[in-house]
This record gives sequence, structure tokens and C-alpha cells, in this order.
Amino acid sequence: AKDMGRHTYRFFKPAMNEKAVERLSIEADLRRALEREELELHYQPKIDLTTGLTCGAEALIRWNHPTRGWIPPAQFIPIAEDCRLILPIGEWVLGEACRQAQRWAEAGLWFGTMAVNVSAVQFCELNFAQRVFAILSQAGMDPKRLELELTESVLMKGTESTAPNLQTLRSEGVQMALDDFGTGYSSLSYLERFPVDCLKIDQSFIRQISAVGAKSTLVTTIINMAHTLKLRVVAEGVETKEELQFIKNRGCDEGQGYYFSRPLPSSVFTQRLLLSNSV
Ligand code: C2E
Ligand code: CA
Ligand code: CA
Ligand code: CA
Repeated sequence: AKDMGRHTYRFFKPAMNEKAVERLSIEADLRRALEREELELHYQPKIDLTTGLTCGAEALIRWNHPTRGWIPPAQFIPIAEDCRLILPIGEWVLGEACRQAQRWAEAGLWFGTMAVNVSAVQFCELNFAQRVFAILSQAGMDPKRLELELTESVLMKGTESTAPNLQTLRSEGVQMALDDFGTGYSSLSYLERFPVDCLKIDQSFIRQISAVGAKSTLVTTIINMAHTLKLRVVAEGVETKEELQFIKNRGCDEGQGYYFSRPLPSSVFTQRLLLSNSV
């Protein structure tokens, strides 16, 4: 039995430790990633489905780790949220995205709005709205050019500062979008308590959509409901011509996905704007 125990120990415990150690090591490296300039933003265009022109850019974080290589955000954002490193990281993301937006604006390049993902941990901070205004004014950016993407988890966690933060930001013209729409719970009741400007239909609803079937009914219903509530609708994860046709036919306002473009380094995005969106 003792042998058995040791065997189990060997088989099971180290695997758990490895995971914990890995997590700690990512956390330690993440602390230094900002100073060492290992973090970078890529930008994915949003397309106005009526004109076919770029009408927005979503900033997506990338981490170029010195030994592990590129680590996707899904692997380190949750860790950053747990240890609250998401606060300085999120602050950097906002600043960097606003500076980039201002560079495009000053170069006469029309990019529409710059969208930035905001974690629930950030949004629940008491002074979040003030932080955003400070960053905007430092970058010299018009608040109307900024869009913040929140997930339903932000509204679900909802502290007493959630509604005031939302209201203050919107009163200055900052656009608010609800990300991954349809994947959380009781989305509709949140919309009443926490008014936003835009819904982003989660990619899982768009993937392999066909004219028949539950997905198509859901997407059609979300688009119509959003329009009744006077909200803009963006379809995420558009990968094929068929998916584009589907959302376009149903009056969806904007599309985003590999069909149009992958997220791009700022220099490549700039080239894209130079080719199509000069004013
Ligand atoms: P998200 O906000 O839902 O972003 C969309 C994700 O889908 C991005 O993955 C994007 O690269 C990917 N995507 C876009 N179009 C397509 C498509 O046509 N097909 C497929 N299969 N994927 C597509 P990414 O960049 O790996 O980001 C994953 C998630 O990490 C984001 O999901 C967001 O929740 C989070 N994230 C990224 N950057 C930040 C950030 O700066 N701050 C915070 N708090 N979270 C971030
Ligand atoms: Ca997003
Ligand atoms: Ca999303
Ligand atoms: Ca997502």
C-alpha cells in the first residue's frame, strides 16, 4: 500500500505542482514583461458592412516571451487578472491603443473607433472612468474615437461603481460594447441596468452558420433585438463568404474576422489604412 501511495504521489502530485509552478513562473515573467517591452498590440479591422470600409480597430494584446515565444492572451490574461497585474497591463494597453489612434488621426488616416478590451478587474476599480479620461487627454485623443469592450462578467460582478463608471464614460462620448454576446447568462436584463452602445455577437454563433438551424434564428433574433434597442451590432469571427452574406442579409452593421483580416501589427494596419481609408 505504501508503494501504491508513492506511485500515486509520483503520478499525480507532480503534475499538479508543475502546473502551479508554470503559473508562478508566468506570473513572475509577466511582472517584468511590461518593463522589458515584451508586450505588443495587434489591431484587427472591423468592417462596415454597408460600405465595405474599415470602421474600427480592435486592439489585441500579444506577449513575446524571451524563451517561450508568443503566448496567446487566453493563457496569460486570466493569470494577470488573478494577481491583479491586469491593472498595470490594462493601463498600458489603453495608453498604447490611444497613442496609436492619435498617430493615425494626425496622419489623416480614418480608422473609425479604436476598441480596447477591458477586464472586469479593471472596470470594477472605483476610479476606472477617471483613469480612462486621464489616458485619453494624455494621448490627445477624442473620447468619441474610443470604444471599450466589456464582457457580461463585468456586469455580472457588478459592484456599486459599475453603473457610475459606465454612465460617466458614455456621457463623455466613449462607446461601450458588450463582447462575446450570447455566451453569458440573462444578457437581456443586464442591458436594461447597464446601457451600452454596441453588441458583439460571439464567434461561436457565426461559425458555420447556415440559413436553416438554431444558430441562424439566434443571430437573426439578436440583430433585430439590438436594432430595436438602437444598438449597433458587430458579428465576430467571420471567416467565410457565406457567413458574411448571412449577416449582411440580416442587416448586421459590422463584421470582424479572418475573412476580412487577421489582427495586424500596427505598421501593417497603417499600410491597410493608407490603401483604403485615406481622407
Ligand atoms: P475577444 O475580445 O473575443 O477577441 C477576439 C479573438 O478572436 C481574438 O483572439 C482574435 O484574434 C480572434 N479572432 C478574430 N477573428 C477571428 C476569426 O475569424 N476566427 C477565429 N478563430 N478567431 C478570430 P486573441 O487575440 O487570441 O484574444 C483572445 C481573448 O483575449 C480576447 O477575446 C480577449 O478576451 C482577450 N484579450 C486580448 N487582448 C486583451 C487585452 O488587451 N486586454 C484584455 N483584458 N483582454 C484581452
Ligand atoms: Ca473583444
Ligand atoms: Ca469577443
Ligand atoms: Ca472571447
